[in-house]
Amino acid sequence: MRADLRRIARSLPWALPIGFLLAERRWPLRPVDRDARRLRTNAVLGLLGALTEVLLDVPLSRWTARRSERRRWGLSRLPRGPWRTLAGVLWLDWTLYLWHRATHRHPGLWRLHLPHHLDPAMDVTTAWRFHVAELLASLPFRVAQVASAGVPGEALRLWQRLLVLSISFHHSNLRLPDPMEHVLSLVVMTPRLHGIHHSVDPELRNSNWSSGLTLWDRLHRTYRTEPRLVIRLGVEGVPPARELGASLVAPLSESS
Ligand SMILES: [Zn+2]
Repeated sequence: MRADLRRIARSLPWALPIGFLLAERRWPLRPVDRDARRLRTNAVLGLLGALTEVLLDVPLSRWTARRSERRRWGLSRLPRGPWRTLAGVLWLDWTLYLWHRATHRHPGLWRLHLPHHLDPAMDVTTAWRFHVAELLASLPFRVAQVASAGVPGEALRLWQRLLVLSISFHHSNLRLPDPMEHVLSLVVMTPRLHGIHHSVDPELRNSNWSSGLTLWDRLHRTYRTEPRLVIRLGVEGVPPARELGASLVAPLSESS
């Protein structure tokens, strides 16, 4: 029974995003864009990103966690159990908030993050749309995230699964019923809140950086709601990148 539950929990990060894909077609939040060029671009970037994650990010970060456990460093010194796991997940979620904020503040990192914001629409496929150079640049930070607090392996694995789930959810074009939106946004980043972060307006874009819990945006006073449902997406002064080529060279563009 316990093994069955564990198997179900393990399959959720892959099964739920497919559910979001189907649900966003039925209950869209923003205008739908099923342009084949855009979907192809996001699929190719997603494939390159998945390879980077599977071949580099996951092995490197898990090796760092094992090393911390062997050395009994930081959180790895605590007795094994739910509190240790929770502390590790919270640390990783908060430090990812800091990284996302840095990608907007630091001009060099912003160039790498730019292709993600140049998606002319926003749906589950936007969650896969990260330039491989951004993912490579995040590797030393990922190692630092784990090493600095001695995050144990079980917390890292849980956070990695939750992250797949949460980024698929908050990038989706899923319109939630208002009461559900209200309750969920008290705890986690929702599609509507994250849509504000993808706004063409820099003032709106400098908000809602959290990937998991909205707590970090609230603590850093960057949490923002917006009464308008439809927000213009993109980056001011930079044309949206629908084609793969334009998305790949976007970090090198003059106007970025
Ligand atoms: Zn961003």
